[in-house]
Amino acid sequence: METGWLLPDLEHEVGAEFWHGCGRGELLVQACAACGKWRMPPRPMCPACRSTEIRWDVTSGRGRIWSYVVPHPPLLPAYADVAPYNAIIVELEEDPMIRFAGNLVTSVDGAINEIDPATIQIGEPVRVVFTQIEEVSLPRWVRASQS
Ligand SMILES: [Zn+2]
Repeated sequence: METGWLLPDLEHEVGAEFWHGCGRGELLVQACAACGKWRMPPRPMCPACRSTEIRWDVTSGRGRIWSYVVPHPPLLPAYADVAPYNAIIVELEEDPMIRFAGNLVTSVDGAINEIDPATIQIGEPVRVVFTQIEEVSLPRWVRASQS
């Protein structure tokens, strides 16, 4: 697929386990192993109880569009070529305070500019799909009404 995209470092981030989960087709969320509170983005210490004990929980991969933007130039070259496109924030079904950034697409291999941004609605139900880009399984989102 496209190259030149901003992709995560799979091994050297505090969120490496998140990306390993994506590789298995699982949308994980980091949780405190002491008090159980979920947090996103991943970080070394629980903001609630300050424990550094971590576990990773598998989520439903379902949520709703909490917000979105349509980026405009100037953009990085790989993104300028596909503008206008959408960038959405999804709140997780199980916990609306857990939010993920991504793109709304029509299929797992869909382009990030294939949906007319004017059709995107706050609150729309979505579900995660994982798109292979280079060595990364990138979580993206499709409308839950799509089969
Ligand atoms: Zn905690």
